[in-house]
Amino acid sequence: MASYDFVVVGSGIAGLSFALRAARHGKVLVLTKLLSRAGSTHLAQGGIASVLDPLDSLERHVQDTLTAGAGLCRREVVETLVARGPGAIRDLVEWGAHFTRATAEGRSRGIPYDLAREGGHSSSRIVHAHDGTGREIQRALIEAVHSDPNITVRENVLAIDLVTAKHFKAGEKDKDPRAVYGVYALDVAANRIEMHLGAATLLCTGGVGQVYAHTTNDSVSTGDGIAMAYRAGAAVEDMEFMQFHPTSFFNPGHPTYLISEALRGHGGVLRNRAGDALMDGVHPLKSLAPRDIVARAIDAEMKRSGEPCVFLDMTACGGAASLKRHFPNIYRHCLRYGVDMARQWIPVVPAAHFMCGGIKVDGHSATELTNLYAVGEAACTGVHGANRLASNSLLEGVVFSERALARILDTRPARPSRRRFRAWDSMRLKPVEETIIYSHALETIRSTMWHYVGIVRSDFRLDRAAEFLRVISRQIQSDYWSFSMEPDLIELRNLTLCAELIVRSARRRKESRGLHYNVDYPKMLPRARHTVLRPT
Ligand SMILES: Cc1cc2nc3c(=O)[nH]c(=O)nc-3n(C[C@H](O)[C@H](O)[C@H](O)COP(=O)(O)OP(=O)(O)OC[C@H]3O[C@@H](n4cnc5c(N)ncnc54)[C@H](O)[C@@H]3O)c2cc1C
Repeated sequence: MASYDFVVVGSGIAGLSFALRAARHGKVLVLTKLLSRAGSTHLAQGGIASVLDPLDSLERHVQDTLTAGAGLCRREVVETLVARGPGAIRDLVEWGAHFTRATAEGRSRGIPYDLAREGGHSSSRIVHAHDGTGREIQRALIEAVHSDPNITVRENVLAIDLVTAKHFKAGEKDKDPRAVYGVYALDVAANRIEMHLGAATLLCTGGVGQVYAHTTNDSVSTGDGIAMAYRAGAAVEDMEFMQFHPTSFFNPGHPTYLISEALRGHGGVLRNRAGDALMDGVHPLKSLAPRDIVARAIDAEMKRSGEPCVFLDMTACGGAASLKRHFPNIYRHCLRYGVDMARQWIPVVPAAHFMCGGIKVDGHSATELTNLYAVGEAACTGVHGANRLASNSLLEGVVFSERALARILDTRPARPSRRRFRAWDSMRLKPVEETIIYSHALETIRSTMWHYVGIVRSDFRLDRAAEFLRVISRQIQSDYWSFSMEPDLIELRNLTLCAELIVRSARRRKESRGLHYNVDYPKMLPRARHTVLRPT
């Protein structure tokens, strides 16, 4: 197999925007589990934040981001993100994305696109493609990548581990023992493990929502990049900050579906089964209180009542015709599963939504390992701090893919030679006989994380979770080196490690800040510190 200038793992907004930029400078290989209809980019509904209104300002967007981040954002990185916003929108349009155009009034003020307003933003600055922004961006990027001869995309190929000095043949050495040379990956259809070498390796594998029983994330979001980087020696940062969306459709046995905040903005009221309005007396904004406060109130109600969900009441919000006009997709989705929101309450449950932490990177998306970069939700740039401002994450993917490329072009790494590395040895492995052991372990992890490491935490629950995870982790380590490689086992190993990293990070934080709430330390400490974990 050829070696490449750039090996990119992941085909969401981070991976594909990087590939398109890098293809002007060399050969790019993109490995991905699934190219379309997978990952968080495809699912994003709301939009992408950017200052385009002359009455808005970059400084206000910076301030809004810092406020949401509760003292843990890195200001200079936030400034880069915001300053590059308008350029990022231009890049996406150049790659073929169509965003909803401004009204005549907007255009007369020089604003090209309709700008929506979202929670935490002091101005209207959300560029969107109706309520399917991510789908439109993903479509455009895939088309652009397909028409670029310098980009090779391999689908159904799952990266397993990074190629490092550990994988040299006997006698081979490098003056830099912390260098990364590419990835080992499983070609699922061919059931073959391949080595893909690159001068620079990019992890753009997205989030880790699948570690929780309820999540808005796609099934591919299993934290693979975070786990691979950590195993290879990179640091991870702020992994305790998982953002929970307060309202996803409660529909056991089916993929989770986001019930947008816009429904509460339209007058929806959160109720328990008895019909009491949940947010009365909790926050002056009631059902429209900030996401973390609503999520915490729902969690408390579910714990108190033992019910598996609460309800969003839209029955006094203008009737079927108005609801269909405002929320065509959500209305259709609920109806498909037997809930007519004009007449019935929508069962909702909070769900793990966005990982603010991840692989620790600098302002150019460089990890602590040489020639290894991480972009998008897998990375912790310091942009989100302890809580993400809505619609900043798509932007992060586009902006930091550009920053990563700039650094790679500055450092000019060389393509590694295949002759120096060992191929993956799978001779001693036997096929797994009973896959139930994996599905059971996965269920245990997801329910442990949901009940013990969820929206409200305590030292007791975190310690209990750590104990459960220790047992599962030991079993998986032993299976991993005995059985042949299968996607389920690879993902389970990564999810287990990510779950452990989240628990360890949460246990280290002796305060409540942003998304992390621990009843044993309900106050925020005066000094904000990052939680950094490095493999020993
Ligand atoms: C329901 C929902 C709505 C959202 N709405 C918004 C919004 O309106 N605005 C906003 O800014 N953000 C939103 N977000 C967050 C945002 O969508 C994500 O943070 C962002 O899309 C992440 O992009 P990414 O490229 O890092 O990862 P993803 O888009 O998740 O892509 C990850 C890629 O990695 C691949 N992959 C993973 N592991 C491997 C492996 N081992 N080997 C090979 N390939 C692998 C996957 O196949 C996938 O292609 C939303 C998220 C969700 C879940």
